[in-house]
Formats: sequence, C-alpha cells, structure tokens
Amino acid sequence: MYFPMLHQDELLYSALARCRVHLGLDSQKELLRQHFSDPWVAATTDLPNHLGKLSQNIGRPLGLDAALLVRRHTLFPLYAPFITPERRGRLEKAMVEDGESGTLGLSGITTAAVTWPPWLRFCPTCLAEMHARHGEYYWRREWQVIGANACIEHLCRLLDSSVPFRRRSRYDFQAASPWNCPHRGPPAPADASDLLIAKGVRQLLSSPDAPSPTFRQWSRFYHSLAVEQGATKGHHIRVGMLWRRVLSRHSSNWLASNGLLVSEAPHWFVAMFRKHRKSFSFLQHLTVWTCFRQGQDAGSLLLEAARLPDEEKVSDGAAPVTGHTDWQLFQQRKKWLKALGKAGGTKRAREQGGQSLYFWLYRHDRQWLMVTNAGRKVEHGNHRQIDWVRRDRQLAKRLIRIEVESGENLAVPRRSQAWFLSQLPHSASVEKNLRRLPLCRGFLGKYAESLGEYQVRRLTKVLINDALTGRVRKKWELERLCGLQTSRTTELARSFLQGLDEKL
Ligand SMILES: [Zn+2]
Repeated sequence: MYFPMLHQDELLYSALARCRVHLGLDSQKELLRQHFSDPWVAATTDLPNHLGKLSQNIGRPLGLDAALLVRRHTLFPLYAPFITPERRGRLEKAMVEDGESGTLGLSGITTAAVTWPPWLRFCPTCLAEMHARHGEYYWRREWQVIGANACIEHLCRLLDSSVPFRRRSRYDFQAASPWNCPHRGPPAPADASDLLIAKGVRQLLSSPDAPSPTFRQWSRFYHSLAVEQGATKGHHIRVGMLWRRVLSRHSSNWLASNGLLVSEAPHWFVAMFRKHRKSFSFLQHLTVWTCFRQGQDAGSLLLEAARLPDEEKVSDGAAPVTGHTDWQLFQQRKKWLKALGKAGGTKRAREQGGQSLYFWLYRHDRQWLMVTNAGRKVEHGNHRQIDWVRRDRQLAKRLIRIEVESGENLAVPRRSQAWFLSQLPHSASVEKNLRRLPLCRGFLGKYAESLGEYQVRRLTKVLINDALTGRVRKKWELERLCGLQTSRTTELARSFLQGLDEKL
C-alpha cells in the first residue's frame, strides 16, 4: 500500500496528511479505512494510536515497525522518560494497540499541567528549505512543543499556522501548505530561553530509548542538584535560593509566557526538590536543567539519574553486591560534597585532605565534578558586587561568537542590536546596564545590522540561490521576493540593485 517516505523528525500525523494529498483522497475516512483498516481512528497530533495496524499495512516495504513510528514520529520521547517504567510500557502498548481513551492520561499530560500550543506551528525559513529540497512542506515534531517556541536552525520565533493542534473533527488530516502557514516578512528573532528549551526538546526527541528513572532516583537526583548549588543547610533545601537563580537565568519574557514570572517558587518547583511522589513534565525538568546543568545533554542527564541507587536506604557500610560502581560513585560524590561544604571551596577542600578524592572523581566522573565545583563558585559570586569589567569581557566574547556563528547564515533574521541582546542570557539586565558595558556597546555599534545591510543580505541570499539553480529574475521580481516595497527600500539596497543592473 502506498505511503510516503517519512522525513526526519516529521510527525506521523503530517505523513498521513501528505499521503492523503498524494493519493488525491477527498474523504478522510477512506484514508483511515485503507491505512488503519478502521475508519474511526482519531487523527491525533502528539500521541496517536493503532500504530500496530498501520505498520502492518504500510510498514513492511518501508522497514517501519510500530516501535520505530512511536519513537521517531510522535511526541512519545518527551513523555516517556518522566513517567514510571511501568506506565511507560503501558503508554507504548496503548499507542501500538487501540488504547484510545487512556493514552493521554498515561503520558501524564493531564496531571503534570502540560499544555500544548493552540495551533500547529512552523518556521517559514525551514518551510522554504523543505520546499526546495522535497517539493512540499511537512510538520516537524520539535515545533509543536510549548515552552520551546524557536527554530534552532534559524534562531527565529516559530509562527502559528491555521491548523489547530487538537482539531474539532477527529478525522481531520491537514498537510502543511502555503495556505495554512501564512507569513509576511521575516520572523522575529528567538528568545534565548526558548532556544535553550528547544535544544533540550531536540535532545529528548533524539534519545527515545533513554531510561525512565524511578521516583526514588529522581528524588536523589534533585537532592544532589541542590547540594551542588550549595542550596542546602543540613537536611533543609533552600528552595527560595534555587528559584531566584531560575528567575535570574531565564529571560523575563519566557518566564512570563510560561506563567513562571512569580517571586515565590511555584508549588511544583518546591515538590521537585522534595521526595518525588508523582511525575513532573518535561518542561518542568528542562526549566531546571537549563539553569543548573546548562550545556549537559538531556540524554546524559537521564542516564545519570537512572544510575543513582534505587534502594530505600543507602547505608554508609559495605557496598551492596549489585551495582557496585554506581554505588561507589554515589558515595564518592557524597564525600566530596561534604568536603566542599566544610572547606567552603574547591582549593581548600583539596588542601584539607581531599586531594585523592578529587583525583578519583576527576578520573571517573569529571563532568559532575566540574559542574559541582562551578556551582560553588556561582554561589560565592552572588554575594559580592558584580564585577562589571569582567562581565563586559565575557559578554563581548559571547557576542563575537554569536556574530561568527550567524555570519555565514544568510537566513538569520535582521541582526539588530535587539537581536544580539536577545541571544544573551539575562538579556533584559544586559540591556538595562549597557552603560556599564563599554566593550559590548562598542561591539553593537560596529556589528548591529542596519536595515540597509539586512536588505542587501536578503537580496544576496536569493541571488546565490538563483545562481545555483541557473535562474534569472527581473528586478521587480527580486524586490517583491525580498519584501522590498519602494517606500522602505534603503539607499544602500537601491545602489546594490543598481550595481546589479549595470552588470546584467
Ligand atoms: Zn527554521
């Protein structure tokens, strides 16, 4: 039976919708009858079911079995690591079979306050590239996740299509097209926090077989995160202190749009650092990870949590027969944290008899050690006055890196002062304190793109594409394609076009 090749990261919903277009089927139910042997299957965006039947009907020629569909073309990998292993098994079974009514409940969506975007979303530049490469559009998984409202490739905000995420009709398959993905002009630059979360979402989606840690392992994981951050006092965890760090590390726009711009730690955040009794959502986990373990891959964080002891009590006595290495690691970490707490810093802890422990951890658990030690530094730094000269140097270095990384990419939105600032952590605070940051000011004065330079860049992009495809365009066609209305065309772009005229 005909079924189109699935693209990388494409939602199964999207492939079914394209299939209907390819086959020229008017009736949605006919599609369902052919592919699922059942006209009553619902067209679900995130966690579809009856996939066993579908893969029986279409899978063999394409080498697609139901398990692969679940992992690569649905949002299953966003939920699976954060529910109990037993529930994860039931969720997958419900998706492969016909457990229609309970699927969303099993994923924890209904209990962990997960919301979804009202509309299916897209990145206009990605769509243009899909069209150039495949001759059609498709819906990507990573665009449909609330909290991650950015395209990582083009560093821009995602736009809403006119197709609802949950449609009123259960049998409505709509392929992405220029009609339901309207856009005018280039999209706005992405928010730095959206980009961070989007990266985490991509890592989760590409680690579908990452383990699901148990409640006990999560409790231990978050407890040790708090210790790493120096936010414990005896058995007490200073949640307020941790929350203030979350507030200072994410942009206020992102916090506000996710309902997190509150001075008191929300209930779920407090519960996360206590004994885990229920599941938390991927967005809640990512919110914490992107602050306290920035730069560490989500897949490796899941492995780290799943390797923690799962026994009720871990004694300080002899090692249990099983899980020796993990157990030893856990004990060594505990010892180092204790030494750090006592000595008040890495250097002192090493001098006061912790040297061999430090080397052991350096050999076996370097990443954890580095993050833990850095976390300590942050804590002390917060109590002092901010060193603006140092901060200026660090931020300027970061700006230069952003400039180099985005310089070759002709598809990036206009690299204005606001765009550069939005790429920095704590962008609002940087903007407010620009007068204290002379290097950054100098950088922005020199490298922020003017409207004219941006128009020339857009023209260049189209011209390069045309040169590669051997296409020649009229001047008005070029202008229209690049959105240059005569009233807004700058002098620079006008003389660029004139220069072209003379060459042609
Ligand atoms: Zn894109």
